[in-house]
Amino acid sequence: MIKFNKPEREIKYIFVHCSASNVIEDDVKKIEELHTGNKNNKVVWNTREEKCFGWSYIGYQYIIDYKAKIHECRPLEIQPASQYGMNKHSISICLLGNGVYSNKQFKTLKELCKTINLQYNDKLYIYGHRDINRIAKTKYHTTKDCPKFEVKEILNLDDNNLIKKKVNKLWKKTLSVVAPTVATALGGPLAGTAVKQISQKLLGKDSATEEELSYAIGNATPEQLNKLKEIETNFKIEMEKLGVDLERINAGDRDSARKREMELKDKTPSILGFFIMFGFFGLLGFLLFYAVPTQNEAIFNIMLGALGTMATGVVSYYFGSSAGSRAKDLKGVKND
Ligand SMILES: [Zn+2]
Repeated sequence: MIKFNKPEREIKYIFVHCSASNVIEDDVKKIEELHTGNKNNKVVWNTREEKCFGWSYIGYQYIIDYKAKIHECRPLEIQPASQYGMNKHSISICLLGNGVYSNKQFKTLKELCKTINLQYNDKLYIYGHRDINRIAKTKYHTTKDCPKFEVKEILNLDDNNLIKKKVNKLWKKTLSVVAPTVATALGGPLAGTAVKQISQKLLGKDSATEEELSYAIGNATPEQLNKLKEIETNFKIEMEKLGVDLERINAGDRDSARKREMELKDKTPSILGFFIMFGFFGLLGFLLFYAVPTQNEAIFNIMLGALGTMATGVVSYYFGSSAGSRAKDLKGVKND
């Protein structure tokens, strides 16, 4: 597991290098000697004697050795000293080797780049040292062929040298397991609210495209999955609040109608209620003795349905509706 803590300085690029050194076990030590040794000292580097640089740290942030082990070198807070002209907003990684690298080293490089990149919403440009000749001013160009392999190819980068985003088709399934309420909302009229919540918490912006969502959820880290769970909890609370408010509005309506009746000593509701109940039960009684003529069946059903609804209204006006039992009914439906 690679750990990476975002430094405070702004990062835009990852630069990949090679040590261009002989295959010996203590190459990391050699690099350290060359980079941090006293300027008056010399060190044998690839059979040649080289003057030490006298720096405080190795120029690179990370070195991946022959066994694909990652060595953390220069602190991330300090800019690297490895690609003149483009050090300021960069993180640099060096592979031990001189044009020939193991698959394990490449695999580690990929994982390291992905881990770093993920903290920047996959917006970091990844270059090989020699790519500087393509992207930087002429005065910063290098004569080196470092890192002696096509970074774009090995890391599967797009035309802009960004890591290619893979759309994970299973993202909806992931979401329905981790955040079922949010997943359901995505398919309905509350989709906007659901998208906004995920976008803000997961991607740090107000609205994300479906592609961005699918990528973020499909490739979510354990921390991001935890964030999704948080979103689910908050979303549920908000929905419940909404339900409570609707119930309150309904109750308020009934209350004001009842008050009006009491204040005005208005008999209209009771008379209306009587006729509705009489009509409803009368119709049901009629059905005990007579069959409905086929040609009138449709109209009859509409009448019965309307009267049924009105009868429910009358009962809830006089006796109050039971919000609790209705909520239970809804839960029963959900569990199915
Ligand atoms: Zn280099």
